Amino acid sequence: MVLLCIEIVTTKNYHMKEITTTEFEKEILQADKAVLDFYSSECPPCDALAPKFESLAGVYGSDIKFFKIYRQQNRDLAERLGVYSSPTLIFFDRGKETGIRLTGGIKRSEIIHNLNSMVSPQKASSIKNSMKPFATSCDVAIIGSGPGGLTAGLYLCQARINTVLIDTGLPGGHVSITHQVSNYPGFVDPQPGYLLSHNMSEQTKKCGTVFKVAVDVTKVDLKKKEIVIDEYETLKPKKIIIATGTSPNYLNVPGEREFKGKGISYCATCDAKYYADKEVIVIGGGNSAVEEAEFIVKFASKVTIVHQFDKLQANKQAQEKLLANPRVNVMLSHEPRSFVRSGDKMIVTVENLKNGMTSDLITDGVFIFVGLRPNIDLFGKMLDLDNWGYLKTDEDMRTNITDVYAVGDVRSKKYRQITTAIADGTIAAISITRELDN
Ligand SMILES: Cc1cc2nc3c(=O)[nH]c(=O)nc-3n(C[C@H](O)[C@H](O)[C@H](O)COP(=O)(O)OP(=O)(O)OC[C@H]3O[C@@H](n4cnc5c(N)ncnc54)[C@H](O)[C@@H]3O)c2cc1C
Repeated sequence: MVLLCIEIVTTKNYHMKEITTTEFEKEILQADKAVLDFYSSECPPCDALAPKFESLAGVYGSDIKFFKIYRQQNRDLAERLGVYSSPTLIFFDRGKETGIRLTGGIKRSEIIHNLNSMVSPQKASSIKNSMKPFATSCDVAIIGSGPGGLTAGLYLCQARINTVLIDTGLPGGHVSITHQVSNYPGFVDPQPGYLLSHNMSEQTKKCGTVFKVAVDVTKVDLKKKEIVIDEYETLKPKKIIIATGTSPNYLNVPGEREFKGKGISYCATCDAKYYADKEVIVIGGGNSAVEEAEFIVKFASKVTIVHQFDKLQANKQAQEKLLANPRVNVMLSHEPRSFVRSGDKMIVTVENLKNGMTSDLITDGVFIFVGLRPNIDLFGKMLDLDNWGYLKTDEDMRTNITDVYAVGDVRSKKYRQITTAIADGTIAAISITRELDN
């Protein structure tokens, strides 16, 4: 019953060499063109990069030399080059750094972009033509590696079902960017979200599930069961589990998209640290807004919550804890109308919904937590949705398309939590195991 993942066309010979600090000058600085990967051990994003780096060495290797260097044993060189995280890719043209440094969950398309800028356009196009698309097959493909997808992967793997887990980012989903999780059973004390998601991901990986993460998912055909990854690999599973979760809602007011990442953030864990001793406005009044505001106020000198209703919607305990902090203010019955940048400051124009008057709030940064929307754009219009755009399933997590399942936050349901996503992943995996066993 179990099919191995088969790579139908593989890459050619490639030039790749592991170097140390003593070889850096000769191999990199004296080379015509080179790319250097600073990697570490026990580094999931480094593991995710390795096969992409190798396969690109196979196609660019005669024009650009590919090198790897173990960061932990070559610390001085790393520091001299300003490398503080793994993996970091640095590109060199005749001894000088060129292009954009890449770090974290590095995508194949980002590396190709840099490599192409180092060769002529004709060469780039002939290399592109030489990259032969290939197909792989497996029993189950899971799209999305948050708690729902990871749990499904774990159960399927333990049932010896050949499973591939695909994610456009690194594994972990929302949990990896939640600062503390206090309601996940089995831990006496709150757990840092990144650690909880790291452990979930390592457990699933250790079992043998194949991870294809930090990839571009360019096309999905749910009927034919085909998933195109990075434009050149077509994965052909027997069954597909959609576990793509949700993304933050936009307010859709002027200035929001323009200043996203330049004063406006949707992730406290990622960005609160940049607001140490600064003033911040948080938009929203539900659980996420209040819990994330509590994290932000550890850094910020003042947090003002702007909320459209005349009371906060978050759970009472979280509200009381936050509002007891003298550095937190709340502006109820107000809605943002525009965001403008003025030097280092953001100007947020808000409307008082009770009297229609507008006023300008000047702040250092804005965090927006106004709900979430399901990540379903990739899947076309064939799936049955509820009135809010979430995927409808039966109680075994089957969608209306044969052999396509949906689990976690992307699914139509009442409560979206880590524990409920995990439950969905478990149910889908057991249902699939029974079907494949028959
Ligand atoms: C700020 C915040 C705080 C929270 N705090 C808690 C808490 O304390 N306790 C709790 O129980 N719950 C909490 N939650 C809810 C919890 O995080 C979610 O219910 C849970 O993560 C859902 O898991 P999931 O696997 O369905 O989706 P997600 O965790 O959203 O993971 C989805 C994954 O799919 C990937 N993906 C998306 N689109 C694609 C695509 N097109 N192709 C491939 N991959 C894709 C994403 O990169 C992501 O890795 C919180 C949520 C937020 C937003």
